[in-house]
Amino acid sequence: MDTDSFFLEVTEVVRETEDASSIVFSVPDEAADLFAFAPGQFLTLGVPSEETGLVARCYSICTPPGEPLTVTVKRTVGGYASNWLNDNLRAGDRVRVLPPSGIFTPKDWSADLLLFAGGSGITPILSIVRTAMRDHSGRVVLFYANRDERSVIFAEALTALAAEHPGRLQVFHWLESVQSLPSEAQLREFASAYSSWTSYCCGPAPYMSAVSNALRALDFPRARRHQEKFVSLGGNPFGDVEEVLAAQASLAEADDADEADEAPPAGPTGPVKVEVELDGEQHVFDDWQAGEKLLDFLESKGVKAPYSCREGECSACAIRLVSGEVTMLRNDVLDAEDLAEGIRLGCQSVPASEETVKVSYS
Ligand SMILES: Cc1cc2nc3c(=O)[nH]c(=O)nc-3n(C[C@H](O)[C@H](O)[C@H](O)COP(=O)(O)OP(=O)(O)OC[C@H]3O[C@@H](n4cnc5c(N)ncnc54)[C@H](O)[C@@H]3O)c2cc1C
Repeated sequence: MDTDSFFLEVTEVVRETEDASSIVFSVPDEAADLFAFAPGQFLTLGVPSEETGLVARCYSICTPPGEPLTVTVKRTVGGYASNWLNDNLRAGDRVRVLPPSGIFTPKDWSADLLLFAGGSGITPILSIVRTAMRDHSGRVVLFYANRDERSVIFAEALTALAAEHPGRLQVFHWLESVQSLPSEAQLREFASAYSSWTSYCCGPAPYMSAVSNALRALDFPRARRHQEKFVSLGGNPFGDVEEVLAAQASLAEADDADEADEAPPAGPTGPVKVEVELDGEQHVFDDWQAGEKLLDFLESKGVKAPYSCREGECSACAIRLVSGEVTMLRNDVLDAEDLAEGIRLGCQSVPASEETVKVSYS
């Protein structure tokens, strides 16, 4: 089975700062629909590796829909892919890329947006800012934290946007070199003026957790707090699905051997009925087998459900559980609040009871 990856040509590499570059791709006409994206979504790039052949990494798109598909990669100290991309990519190179995915994208553009970015976390945020300014009429406030002035990615673009939209966009820069790291109390003080707005936050883990705590303290409901976590994928979503499944099965066997005493999750004894809403279509099947992951099951039925890592490490395959029960075999990305909201990972969900399971990808 093919994984819908494409080789896209790099049309330009733009050096944004000393340690970050934007990579602009051209999308062939036949792949235009596949690579249509929503602001805040990301691409998964295949980076050549002598050790493993290929390393998969996610990079958020920084442009708004309709503009050239562009991601921005910041070097991670000691990191493999981010340094390889910054050191090696040139215009004319071709990169293996999986289509856009992710759920870090505003649904209600009439809401005023309170955005928090830290370092390279500006990439999905910039796509959201640009889209809001170009296509919508709501107000946007951006709190953007960086190590020092030289590390601010897109400083000029943000200044120009704010000058173009003085009544709608305000950008507040916070420099660690000047003010130290923003504390939870400082973030709370800042956000208190916008407590009815909808927030989106992307940056290093400690920053995101400080923002999240500050917003919680201000009683921002979960539905108005959104986060994107930047992590490195451990697996290879580019391999043939069969290969990935075989590799996972052998890993699972090894795990079983290691964890012989651990009880398997309780589940149904026979096949379960499942109703799936995806892209406005309803798919109904009555033979979802116990232990079978929803993503694998849907693919076996010819349904093209979204995914990226297939390992419970990103949220590209997120579903909303409407009724019934599922168990996730692995979850490295959803927090307790996501779970309470009914969000699950399609790539890791197996049926957990005899009841019909209803899920939605919207
Ligand atoms: C949805 C999403 C969107 C993202 N968007 C962006 C974006 O727009 N821009 C961006 O720059 N990044 C983005 N990222 C992060 C990106 O995918 C990578 O995680 C990042 O570039 C680091 O990858 P790397 O290969 O350079 O580092 P890695 O090699 O993965 O290393 C990461 C860290 O782990 C350490 N490390 C590596 N190997 C080991 C080991 N064997 N043992 C112990 N420590 C180790 C390294 O020293 C380093 O500190 C995004 C991630 C996600 C999930």
